[in-house]
Amino acid sequence: MDSIDWIGLCRRVVARQRELFVTSSAIAGRTEYEGRGEGGDMSLVLDRRCEDIVFEELERVLGPPGPSAIAVSEERGEVTIGSGEAAARVIIDPIDGSMNMRRTIPSHSLSIAVAGGDSMADVSFGFVHDFGADEEFAARAGAGATLDGGPFELDPPDHGLEVVGIESAEPSWIGPAIALLEGRVYRLRVVGSIAITMSYVAAARFDAMFSARPCRSVDAAAAQLIVREAGGAVDIGGLDPADARLGLDARYTVAAARRPLNLELILEAQAAGPAVHG
Ligand SMILES: [Mg+2]
Repeated sequence: MDSIDWIGLCRRVVARQRELFVTSSAIAGRTEYEGRGEGGDMSLVLDRRCEDIVFEELERVLGPPGPSAIAVSEERGEVTIGSGEAAARVIIDPIDGSMNMRRTIPSHSLSIAVAGGDSMADVSFGFVHDFGADEEFAARAGAGATLDGGPFELDPPDHGLEVVGIESAEPSWIGPAIALLEGRVYRLRVVGSIAITMSYVAAARFDAMFSARPCRSVDAAAAQLIVREAGGAVDIGGLDPADARLGLDARYTVAAARRPLNLELILEAQAAGPAVHG
């Protein structure tokens, strides 16, 4: 799979998805549904069309005479692309932050991860593109993380827990967590895309983040590598990353901290909510 230019593939997907969002720029047009995806959520027409773009680009590079791969995607589920034994898994969330996209709130993302096996520890490439700020976060295992192709800020100042991001922010889920953070965190932010919020931790924009409820592997697979490669700490449902499976049926709470010593308090807050490990 090393022969594939993954970042080039992801950037081609971004360019095509961007055109789609320009063409469909109204809330009414973005709120057309078409049934339920394999991930369990109601599917928007645009979720499906964004996923189609990813699969079309994957089909151009996978399959004879090239390698094949198992695609794990929010709408289609698990699909083998190409014939023969699949050499890798490609974990796809065609739109992370579908509600933002639907309501024309700018922050939503494309998340793609490539893994040599079936666990979060096997992820070797992660890519998150934020269509709001038009920013690209990426990482290669062992080679560090990048923002728009360049290195992250080296050694940014430590602000303790000045800004913490919360995802899956249903009021009744986050209420108890917020109460626990009282007096310990200066400000909260709710972006609405797990992949973007985790990438913000990687970039030291946020000091930490957590999801109030379990999310799917597709939401976190790419960003968890980006955080780890940036030197941050990640918690995936309390599991060793080698035991956190990438399949669509897996559900995890996720949390991340720019400074590993801050992760404990964030996990305490997360545990105060109704979140259960799936
Ligand atoms: Mg999605």
